Amino acid sequence: AAVEGFDIEDVEGAIEEAGHGPLPVLAVVGRPNVGKSTLVNRIIGRREAVVEDKPGVTRDRVSYDAEWAGRRFRLVDTGGWEQDVLGIDASVAAQAEYAIETADAVVFVVDATVGPTDTDLAVVRLLRKAGKPVVLCANKVDGPSGEADATALWSLGLGEPYPVSALHGRGTGDMLDAVLEALPDAPAQTFGTAIGGPRRIALIGRPNVGKSSLLNKVAGEDRVVVNELAGTTRDPVDELIELGGITWKFVDTAGIRKRVHLQQGADYYASLRTAAAVEKAEVAVILIDASESISVQDQRIVTMAVEAGRAIVVAYNKWDTLDEERRYYLEREIDTELAQIAWAPRVNVSATTGRHMEKLVPAIETALDGWETRVPTGRLNAFLGELVASHPHPVRGGKQPRILFGTQAGTKPPRFVLFASGFIEAGYRRFVERRLREEFGFEGTPIHISVRVRE
Ligand code: GDP
Ligand code: GDP
Repeated sequence: AAVEGFDIEDVEGAIEEAGHGPLPVLAVVGRPNVGKSTLVNRIIGRREAVVEDKPGVTRDRVSYDAEWAGRRFRLVDTGGWEQDVLGIDASVAAQAEYAIETADAVVFVVDATVGPTDTDLAVVRLLRKAGKPVVLCANKVDGPSGEADATALWSLGLGEPYPVSALHGRGTGDMLDAVLEALPDAPAQTFGTAIGGPRRIALIGRPNVGKSSLLNKVAGEDRVVVNELAGTTRDPVDELIELGGITWKFVDTAGIRKRVHLQQGADYYASLRTAAAVEKAEVAVILIDASESISVQDQRIVTMAVEAGRAIVVAYNKWDTLDEERRYYLEREIDTELAQIAWAPRVNVSATTGRHMEKLVPAIETALDGWETRVPTGRLNAFLGELVASHPHPVRGGKQPRILFGTQAGTKPPRFVLFASGFIEAGYRRFVERRLREEFGFEGTPIHISVRVRE
Protein backbone atom coordinates (compact mmCIF):
# COMPACT_ATOMS: atom_id res chain seq x y z
CA ALA A 1 0.00 0.00 0.00
CA ALA A 2 1.15 3.52 -0.70
CA VAL A 3 0.26 7.12 0.18
CA GLU A 4 1.11 9.74 -2.45
CA GLY A 5 3.91 7.54 -3.72
CA PHE A 6 5.31 6.70 -0.27
CA ASP A 7 5.37 3.11 0.87
CA ILE A 8 3.10 2.87 3.92
CA GLU A 9 5.72 1.03 5.96
CA ASP A 10 8.29 3.73 5.24
CA VAL A 11 5.81 6.35 6.40
CA GLU A 12 5.15 4.49 9.63
CA GLY A 13 8.87 3.97 10.19
CA ALA A 14 9.61 7.66 9.63
CA ILE A 15 6.90 8.69 12.08
CA GLU A 16 8.15 6.30 14.73
CA GLU A 17 11.72 7.47 14.32
CA ALA A 18 10.85 11.16 14.44
CA GLY A 19 8.59 10.70 17.42
CA HIS A 20 11.05 9.05 19.77
CA GLY A 21 10.81 10.10 23.40
CA PRO A 22 13.83 11.06 25.44
CA LEU A 23 16.73 8.75 24.66
CA PRO A 24 18.99 6.93 27.12
CA VAL A 25 22.21 8.85 27.70
CA LEU A 26 25.69 7.46 27.15
CA ALA A 27 28.64 9.53 28.36
CA VAL A 28 32.22 9.12 27.16
CA VAL A 29 34.80 10.00 29.81
CA GLY A 30 38.55 9.69 30.24
CA ARG A 31 41.79 11.62 30.41
CA PRO A 32 42.80 14.07 27.67
CA ASN A 33 44.35 12.41 24.59
CA VAL A 34 43.09 8.91 25.23
CA GLY A 35 40.92 9.21 22.12
CA LYS A 36 37.46 10.26 23.36
CA SER A 37 36.74 12.65 20.50
CA THR A 38 38.00 10.17 17.94
CA LEU A 39 35.69 7.54 19.40
CA VAL A 40 32.70 9.87 19.47
CA ASN A 41 33.28 10.87 15.87
CA ARG A 42 33.50 7.24 14.87
CA ILE A 43 30.23 6.39 16.62
CA ILE A 44 28.22 9.29 15.21
CA GLY A 45 29.95 9.32 11.82
CA ARG A 46 31.65 12.65 11.34
CA ARG A 47 28.80 14.27 9.45
CA GLU A 48 26.83 15.28 12.55
CA ALA A 49 29.64 17.10 14.25
CA VAL A 50 29.75 19.72 11.52
CA VAL A 51 26.03 20.30 11.16
CA GLU A 52 25.83 23.22 13.56
CA ASP A 53 28.73 25.07 12.08
CA LYS A 54 28.13 28.43 13.72
CA PRO A 55 31.02 30.20 15.41
CA GLY A 56 31.07 29.62 19.14
CA VAL A 57 28.50 26.85 18.92
CA THR A 58 30.17 23.76 17.50
CA ARG A 59 32.83 23.55 20.17
CA ASP A 60 30.29 23.68 22.94
CA ARG A 61 28.11 20.92 21.66
CA VAL A 62 27.94 18.28 24.28
CA SER A 63 25.54 15.71 22.96
CA TYR A 64 24.51 14.03 19.75
CA ASP A 65 21.84 11.58 18.72
CA ALA A 66 23.57 8.34 17.85
CA GLU A 67 22.48 4.90 16.71
CA TRP A 68 23.89 1.40 16.83
CA ALA A 69 22.20 -1.79 15.66
CA GLY A 70 18.90 0.04 15.30
CA ARG A 71 18.91 1.49 18.82
CA ARG A 72 19.15 5.19 19.38
CA PHE A 73 20.79 6.95 22.28
CA ARG A 74 22.16 10.33 23.22
CA LEU A 75 25.93 10.45 23.19
CA VAL A 76 27.56 12.97 25.51
CA ASP A 77 31.06 14.04 24.56
CA THR A 78 33.08 15.53 27.37
CA GLY A 79 36.25 15.58 25.27
CA GLY A 80 35.87 18.91 23.52
CA TRP A 81 35.45 20.93 26.67
CA GLU A 82 38.19 23.26 27.76
CA GLN A 83 40.48 20.90 29.54
CA ASP A 84 43.20 23.38 30.30
CA VAL A 85 41.40 25.81 32.56
CA LEU A 86 41.34 23.30 35.38
CA GLY A 87 44.21 21.02 36.17
CA ILE A 88 43.89 17.70 34.39
CA ASP A 89 42.77 15.82 37.48
CA ALA A 90 40.10 18.36 38.38
CA SER A 91 38.74 18.51 34.87
CA VAL A 92 38.58 14.76 34.52
CA ALA A 93 36.89 14.49 37.92
CA ALA A 94 34.35 17.14 36.87
CA GLN A 95 33.62 15.21 33.67
CA ALA A 96 33.15 12.00 35.57
CA GLU A 97 30.88 13.71 38.06
CA TYR A 98 28.83 15.15 35.22
CA ALA A 99 28.61 11.75 33.58
CA ILE A 100 27.53 10.13 36.81
CA GLU A 101 24.76 12.67 37.28
CA THR A 102 23.33 12.64 33.78
CA ALA A 103 24.22 9.38 32.08
CA ASP A 104 22.46 6.04 32.05
CA ALA A 105 25.73 4.31 31.15
CA VAL A 106 29.36 5.38 30.79
CA VAL A 107 32.12 4.47 28.36
CA PHE A 108 35.41 4.93 30.19
CA VAL A 109 38.26 5.31 27.71
CA VAL A 110 41.81 4.33 28.72
CA ASP A 111 44.88 4.51 26.50
CA ALA A 112 45.95 0.85 26.49
CA THR A 113 49.40 1.71 25.18
CA VAL A 114 50.04 3.79 28.30
CA GLY A 115 48.18 1.68 30.85
CA PRO A 116 46.26 3.04 33.83
CA THR A 117 47.57 6.28 35.33
CA ASP A 118 46.76 7.76 38.76
CA THR A 119 44.17 9.96 37.11
CA ASP A 120 42.51 6.91 35.56
CA LEU A 121 42.43 5.23 38.97
CA ALA A 122 40.75 8.28 40.51
CA VAL A 123 38.03 8.14 37.85
CA VAL A 124 37.58 4.42 38.45
CA ARG A 125 36.84 5.14 42.12
CA LEU A 126 34.21 7.75 41.19
CA LEU A 127 32.59 5.46 38.65
CA ARG A 128 32.45 2.48 40.98
CA LYS A 129 30.90 4.52 43.77
CA ALA A 130 28.21 5.83 41.43
CA GLY A 131 27.03 2.38 40.47
CA LYS A 132 26.15 3.29 36.85
CA PRO A 133 26.97 0.65 34.24
CA VAL A 134 30.47 1.18 32.83
CA VAL A 135 31.97 -0.20 29.62
CA LEU A 136 35.75 -0.13 29.64
CA CYS A 137 37.26 0.92 26.32
CA ALA A 138 40.94 -0.05 25.96
CA ASN A 139 41.77 2.33 23.14
CA LYS A 140 44.64 2.55 20.69
CA VAL A 141 44.77 -1.19 20.19
CA ASP A 142 45.44 -0.78 16.48
CA GLY A 143 46.45 -4.40 15.82
CA PRO A 144 46.66 -7.86 17.40
CA SER A 145 49.97 -7.04 19.10
CA GLY A 146 48.16 -4.57 21.35
CA GLU A 147 45.67 -7.08 22.74
CA ALA A 148 47.89 -7.89 25.70
CA ASP A 149 47.86 -4.23 26.74
CA ALA A 150 44.07 -4.39 26.79
CA THR A 151 44.04 -7.56 28.88
CA ALA A 152 46.17 -5.82 31.50
CA LEU A 153 43.24 -3.44 32.14
CA TRP A 154 41.27 -6.20 33.89
CA SER A 155 43.21 -4.90 36.89
CA LEU A 156 40.96 -1.82 37.01
CA GLY A 157 38.13 -3.96 38.37
CA LEU A 158 35.61 -2.64 35.85
CA GLY A 159 35.08 -5.95 34.11
CA GLU A 160 36.10 -6.88 30.59
CA PRO A 161 38.28 -4.36 28.77
CA TYR A 162 37.17 -3.99 25.13
CA PRO A 163 40.20 -3.61 22.84
CA VAL A 164 39.38 -0.82 20.40
CA SER A 165 41.07 1.32 17.79
CA ALA A 166 38.92 4.43 17.66
CA LEU A 167 41.16 5.65 14.87
CA HIS A 168 40.68 2.66 12.56
CA GLY A 169 37.38 1.32 13.86
CA ARG A 170 38.80 -1.99 15.03
CA GLY A 171 36.75 -3.53 17.87
CA THR A 172 34.24 -0.68 18.14
CA GLY A 173 31.38 -2.98 17.08
CA ASP A 174 31.92 -5.43 19.95
CA MET A 175 32.27 -2.55 22.38
CA LEU A 176 29.03 -0.95 21.18
CA ASP A 177 27.22 -4.27 21.54
CA ALA A 178 28.31 -4.26 25.19
CA VAL A 179 27.15 -0.65 25.51
CA LEU A 180 23.67 -1.58 24.25
CA GLU A 181 23.48 -4.36 26.83
CA ALA A 182 24.34 -1.84 29.54
CA LEU A 183 21.94 0.89 28.38
CA PRO A 184 18.36 0.87 29.63
CA ASP A 185 15.66 1.33 26.95
CA ALA A 186 14.60 4.68 28.33
CA PRO A 187 16.47 7.21 30.43
CA ALA A 188 16.11 7.01 34.20
CA GLN A 189 14.64 10.50 34.22
CA THR A 190 11.79 9.71 31.84
CA PHE A 191 9.22 12.43 31.52
CA GLY A 192 6.49 9.82 31.44
CA THR A 193 7.35 8.48 34.87
CA ALA A 194 6.84 11.88 36.45
CA ILE A 195 3.05 11.60 36.20
CA GLY A 196 1.52 13.56 39.04
CA GLY A 197 4.95 14.53 40.35
CA PRO A 198 6.13 18.12 40.42
CA ARG A 199 7.33 19.63 37.13
CA ARG A 200 11.10 20.00 36.89
CA ILE A 201 12.66 23.44 36.42
CA ALA A 202 16.32 24.22 35.74
CA LEU A 203 17.24 27.76 36.73
CA ILE A 204 20.26 28.51 34.59
CA GLY A 205 22.43 31.44 33.55
CA ARG A 206 26.04 32.49 33.64
CA PRO A 207 27.72 33.29 36.98
CA ASN A 208 26.48 36.45 38.76
CA VAL A 209 23.27 36.94 36.79
CA GLY A 210 21.36 36.47 40.06
CA LYS A 211 20.38 32.79 40.19
CA SER A 212 20.89 32.31 43.93
CA SER A 213 19.25 35.67 44.67
CA LEU A 214 16.21 34.69 42.60
CA LEU A 215 16.02 31.25 44.16
CA ASN A 216 16.16 32.77 47.64
CA LYS A 217 13.54 35.35 46.76
CA VAL A 218 11.01 32.89 45.38
CA ALA A 219 11.69 30.10 47.86
CA GLY A 220 11.95 32.10 51.05
CA GLU A 221 12.17 29.70 53.98
CA ASP A 222 10.06 27.00 52.37
CA ARG A 223 12.80 25.03 50.71
CA VAL A 224 12.65 21.27 50.92
CA VAL A 225 15.69 19.31 49.88
CA VAL A 226 14.47 16.17 48.17
CA ASN A 227 17.53 14.09 47.63
CA GLU A 228 21.22 13.86 48.03
CA LEU A 229 23.64 12.54 45.49
CA ALA A 230 25.56 9.65 46.96
CA GLY A 231 29.30 9.89 46.93
CA THR A 232 30.74 12.77 45.03
CA THR A 233 29.17 15.65 46.91
CA ARG A 234 27.06 16.33 49.95
CA ASP A 235 25.22 19.22 48.33
CA PRO A 236 21.47 19.04 48.07
CA VAL A 237 20.60 18.40 44.45
CA ASP A 238 16.90 19.06 43.91
CA GLU A 239 14.57 21.24 45.94
CA LEU A 240 10.80 21.43 46.13
CA ILE A 241 9.64 25.02 46.02
CA GLU A 242 6.09 26.34 46.06
CA LEU A 243 5.39 29.09 43.57
CA GLY A 244 2.00 30.49 42.60
CA GLY A 245 0.27 27.81 44.66
CA ILE A 246 2.03 24.98 42.80
CA THR A 247 4.93 22.83 43.96
CA TRP A 248 7.85 22.71 41.50
CA LYS A 249 11.05 20.75 41.59
CA PHE A 250 14.05 22.97 41.00
CA VAL A 251 16.71 20.56 39.77
CA ASP A 252 20.38 20.72 40.63
CA THR A 253 20.19 23.81 42.81
CA ALA A 254 23.54 22.76 44.26
CA GLY A 255 25.07 23.93 41.00
CA ILE A 256 23.79 27.41 41.72
CA ARG A 257 25.79 27.86 44.88
CA LYS A 258 29.31 29.22 44.63
CA ARG A 259 32.25 26.87 44.59
CA VAL A 260 34.78 29.06 46.31
CA HIS A 261 37.52 26.46 46.23
CA LEU A 262 37.32 26.32 42.44
CA GLN A 263 38.55 29.73 41.47
CA GLN A 264 40.07 29.29 38.11
CA GLY A 265 37.99 26.99 36.01
CA ALA A 266 34.83 27.99 37.85
CA ASP A 267 33.17 28.87 34.53
CA TYR A 268 34.01 25.48 33.15
CA TYR A 269 32.58 23.83 36.21
CA ALA A 270 29.46 26.00 35.97
CA SER A 271 28.92 24.95 32.36
CA LEU A 272 29.06 21.28 33.35
CA ARG A 273 26.43 21.88 36.00
CA THR A 274 24.27 23.82 33.57
CA ALA A 275 24.32 20.96 31.10
CA ALA A 276 23.47 18.49 33.87
CA ALA A 277 20.55 20.60 35.10
CA VAL A 278 19.15 21.04 31.59
CA GLU A 279 19.24 17.29 30.98
CA LYS A 280 17.18 16.69 34.12
CA ALA A 281 14.61 19.44 33.60
CA GLU A 282 11.43 19.81 31.58
CA VAL A 283 11.60 23.59 31.46
CA ALA A 284 14.66 25.85 31.60
CA VAL A 285 14.32 29.33 33.09
CA ILE A 286 17.25 31.18 31.54
CA LEU A 287 18.32 34.13 33.64
CA ILE A 288 20.06 37.01 31.88
CA ASP A 289 21.64 40.04 33.53
CA ALA A 290 19.78 42.86 31.77
CA SER A 291 22.23 45.46 33.09
CA GLU A 292 25.06 44.02 31.00
CA SER A 293 25.46 43.30 27.30
CA ILE A 294 24.18 39.91 26.22
CA SER A 295 27.29 37.77 25.89
CA VAL A 296 28.47 34.74 23.96
CA GLN A 297 28.22 32.82 27.21
CA ASP A 298 24.51 33.70 27.48
CA GLN A 299 24.05 32.46 23.92
CA ARG A 300 25.82 29.20 24.67
CA ILE A 301 23.47 28.54 27.55
CA VAL A 302 20.48 29.29 25.32
CA THR A 303 21.84 26.92 22.65
CA MET A 304 22.30 24.18 25.25
CA ALA A 305 18.64 24.41 26.32
CA VAL A 306 17.37 24.60 22.72
CA GLU A 307 19.42 21.61 21.59
CA ALA A 308 18.27 19.59 24.57
CA GLY A 309 14.71 20.31 23.42
CA ARG A 310 13.48 21.84 26.67
CA ALA A 311 10.66 24.33 27.21
CA ILE A 312 12.23 27.76 27.69
CA VAL A 313 11.43 30.96 29.60
CA VAL A 314 13.78 33.95 29.55
CA ALA A 315 13.97 36.16 32.64
CA TYR A 316 15.82 39.47 32.38
CA ASN A 317 17.08 40.17 35.89
CA LYS A 318 18.36 43.28 37.71
CA TRP A 319 15.59 45.31 36.06
CA ASP A 320 15.79 47.69 39.04
CA THR A 321 19.14 48.99 37.80
CA LEU A 322 18.16 49.81 34.21
CA ASP A 323 17.97 53.38 32.92
CA GLU A 324 16.21 54.40 29.74
CA GLU A 325 19.31 54.18 27.60
CA ARG A 326 20.17 50.66 28.74
CA ARG A 327 16.59 49.56 28.15
CA TYR A 328 16.84 50.86 24.59
CA TYR A 329 20.04 48.98 23.85
CA LEU A 330 18.83 45.83 25.59
CA GLU A 331 15.89 45.57 23.19
CA ARG A 332 18.26 45.90 20.21
CA GLU A 333 20.53 43.20 21.67
CA ILE A 334 17.62 40.84 22.27
CA ASP A 335 16.55 41.23 18.63
CA THR A 336 19.98 40.49 17.24
CA GLU A 337 21.59 38.14 19.77
CA LEU A 338 18.64 36.07 20.94
CA ALA A 339 16.65 35.77 17.73
CA GLN A 340 16.87 31.99 17.95
CA ILE A 341 14.48 32.02 20.92
CA ALA A 342 12.19 34.86 19.83
CA TRP A 343 9.36 32.43 20.63
CA ALA A 344 10.20 32.13 24.34
CA PRO A 345 8.00 33.90 26.91
CA ARG A 346 9.84 36.75 28.57
CA VAL A 347 9.68 38.31 32.03
CA ASN A 348 11.56 41.37 33.29
CA VAL A 349 12.35 40.74 36.94
CA SER A 350 14.36 41.92 39.89
CA ALA A 351 15.49 39.38 42.43
CA THR A 352 16.34 42.31 44.72
CA THR A 353 12.99 44.10 44.75
CA GLY A 354 10.80 41.13 43.84
CA ARG A 355 9.51 42.90 40.72
CA HIS A 356 7.30 40.70 38.51
CA MET A 357 8.02 37.50 40.43
CA GLU A 358 4.32 36.69 40.05
CA LYS A 359 4.74 36.61 36.25
CA LEU A 360 7.22 33.76 36.39
CA VAL A 361 4.73 30.93 36.92
CA PRO A 362 2.34 31.96 34.12
CA ALA A 363 5.35 32.17 31.76
CA ILE A 364 6.54 28.70 32.81
CA GLU A 365 3.05 27.27 32.32
CA THR A 366 2.79 28.86 28.87
CA ALA A 367 6.12 27.30 27.85
CA LEU A 368 5.15 23.86 29.17
CA ASP A 369 1.80 24.08 27.31
CA GLY A 370 3.64 24.85 24.06
CA TRP A 371 6.06 22.00 24.74
CA GLU A 372 3.20 19.51 25.12
CA THR A 373 1.01 20.78 22.27
CA ARG A 374 -0.24 18.16 19.84
CA VAL A 375 -1.78 19.17 16.53
CA PRO A 376 -4.31 16.64 15.20
CA THR A 377 -3.27 15.22 11.83
CA GLY A 378 -6.43 16.46 10.10
CA ARG A 379 -5.87 20.04 11.20
CA LEU A 380 -2.20 19.90 10.32
CA ASN A 381 -2.89 18.69 6.80
CA ALA A 382 -5.62 21.24 6.20
CA PHE A 383 -3.06 23.88 7.24
CA LEU A 384 -0.31 22.38 5.05
CA GLY A 385 -2.62 22.15 2.05
CA GLU A 386 -3.52 25.83 2.30
CA LEU A 387 0.09 26.81 2.87
CA VAL A 388 1.38 24.92 -0.15
CA ALA A 389 -1.39 26.34 -2.34
CA SER A 390 -0.85 29.95 -1.30
CA HIS A 391 2.97 29.86 -0.95
CA PRO A 392 4.43 27.15 -3.17
CA HIS A 393 8.10 26.18 -2.94
CA PRO A 394 10.22 27.98 -5.58
CA VAL A 395 10.80 26.05 -8.81
CA ARG A 396 14.26 24.48 -9.00
CA GLY A 397 15.70 22.90 -12.14
CA GLY A 398 12.31 22.93 -13.77
CA LYS A 399 10.72 21.06 -10.86
CA GLN A 400 8.59 22.23 -7.99
CA PRO A 401 9.09 20.26 -4.78
CA ARG A 402 5.86 20.03 -2.81
CA ILE A 403 4.99 19.10 0.75
CA LEU A 404 2.44 16.33 0.24
CA PHE A 405 1.35 15.62 3.79
CA GLY A 406 2.64 15.59 7.35
CA THR A 407 2.04 14.48 10.89
CA GLN A 408 3.15 15.37 14.39
CA ALA A 409 5.15 12.39 15.54
CA GLY A 410 5.81 13.47 19.10
CA THR A 411 5.69 16.11 21.83
CA LYS A 412 8.03 17.47 24.54
CA PRO A 413 9.14 19.14 22.31
CA PRO A 414 6.79 18.95 19.31
CA ARG A 415 8.26 16.89 16.45
CA PHE A 416 6.90 16.91 12.92
CA VAL A 417 7.58 14.75 9.89
CA LEU A 418 6.73 16.22 6.51
CA PHE A 419 6.61 14.09 3.37
CA ALA A 420 7.63 15.85 0.18
CA SER A 421 7.93 15.19 -3.53
CA GLY A 422 11.43 16.70 -3.72
CA PHE A 423 14.18 18.43 -1.73
CA ILE A 424 12.79 21.22 0.47
CA GLU A 425 15.20 24.14 0.87
CA ALA A 426 16.24 25.47 4.27
CA GLY A 427 14.58 28.82 3.64
CA TYR A 428 11.25 27.15 2.92
CA ARG A 429 11.60 24.94 6.00
CA ARG A 430 12.06 28.04 8.12
CA PHE A 431 9.03 29.59 6.49
CA VAL A 432 6.97 26.49 7.33
CA GLU A 433 8.17 26.63 10.95
CA ARG A 434 7.24 30.30 11.22
CA ARG A 435 3.77 29.65 9.83
CA LEU A 436 3.31 26.62 12.12
CA ARG A 437 4.08 28.85 15.10
CA GLU A 438 1.70 31.55 13.90
CA GLU A 439 -1.05 29.01 13.45
CA PHE A 440 -0.65 26.73 16.47
CA GLY A 441 1.26 28.71 19.11
CA PHE A 442 4.19 26.62 20.36
CA GLU A 443 5.16 29.51 22.61
CA GLY A 444 8.22 28.67 24.68
CA THR A 445 9.24 25.51 22.87
CA PRO A 446 11.73 24.49 20.20
CA ILE A 447 10.08 22.47 17.42
CA HIS A 448 11.71 19.79 15.30
CA ILE A 449 10.79 19.34 11.66
CA SER A 450 12.17 16.50 9.59
CA VAL A 451 11.40 16.09 5.91
CA ARG A 452 11.18 12.80 4.00
CA VAL A 453 11.54 12.91 0.24
CA ARG A 454 9.78 10.46 -2.07
CA GLU A 455 12.30 8.25 -3.91
P1 GDP B 1 40.64 13.10 23.59
O1 GDP B 1 41.43 14.22 24.13
O2 GDP B 1 40.46 12.00 24.60
O3 GDP B 1 39.33 13.52 22.97
O4 GDP B 1 41.54 12.42 22.45
P2 GDP B 1 41.51 12.59 20.86
O5 GDP B 1 40.33 11.88 20.28
O6 GDP B 1 41.66 14.03 20.53
O7 GDP B 1 42.80 11.76 20.45
C1 GDP B 1 44.09 12.13 20.91
C2 GDP B 1 45.14 11.60 19.95
O8 GDP B 1 45.12 10.16 19.94
C3 GDP B 1 44.88 12.02 18.51
O9 GDP B 1 46.14 12.31 17.91
C4 GDP B 1 44.27 10.78 17.88
O10 GDP B 1 44.50 10.70 16.50
C5 GDP B 1 44.95 9.67 18.63
N1 GDP B 1 44.13 8.45 18.69
C6 GDP B 1 42.82 8.37 19.04
N2 GDP B 1 42.39 7.09 18.95
C7 GDP B 1 43.43 6.35 18.50
C8 GDP B 1 43.61 4.95 18.21
O11 GDP B 1 42.70 4.13 18.31
N3 GDP B 1 44.85 4.56 17.79
C9 GDP B 1 45.87 5.45 17.64
N4 GDP B 1 47.04 4.98 17.24
N5 GDP B 1 45.74 6.76 17.93
C10 GDP B 1 44.54 7.22 18.34
P1 GDP C 1 24.46 33.83 40.63
O1 GDP C 1 25.92 33.67 40.49
O2 GDP C 1 23.77 33.78 39.30
O3 GDP C 1 23.82 32.92 41.63
O4 GDP C 1 24.23 35.36 41.13
P2 GDP C 1 23.95 35.93 42.61
O5 GDP C 1 22.54 35.62 43.02
O6 GDP C 1 25.04 35.52 43.51
O7 GDP C 1 24.00 37.48 42.30
C1 GDP C 1 25.18 38.13 41.85
C2 GDP C 1 25.15 39.57 42.31
O8 GDP C 1 24.07 40.27 41.67
C3 GDP C 1 24.92 39.73 43.80
O9 GDP C 1 25.72 40.79 44.26
C4 GDP C 1 23.46 40.09 43.91
O10 GDP C 1 23.17 40.86 45.05
C5 GDP C 1 23.23 40.89 42.65
N1 GDP C 1 21.85 40.80 42.17
C6 GDP C 1 21.13 39.66 41.93
N2 GDP C 1 19.89 40.00 41.49
C7 GDP C 1 19.81 41.35 41.46
C8 GDP C 1 18.77 42.27 41.07
O11 GDP C 1 17.67 41.94 40.67
N3 GDP C 1 19.09 43.59 41.15
C9 GDP C 1 20.31 44.03 41.59
N4 GDP C 1 20.51 45.35 41.64
N5 GDP C 1 21.29 43.19 41.94
C10 GDP C 1 21.05 41.86 41.89
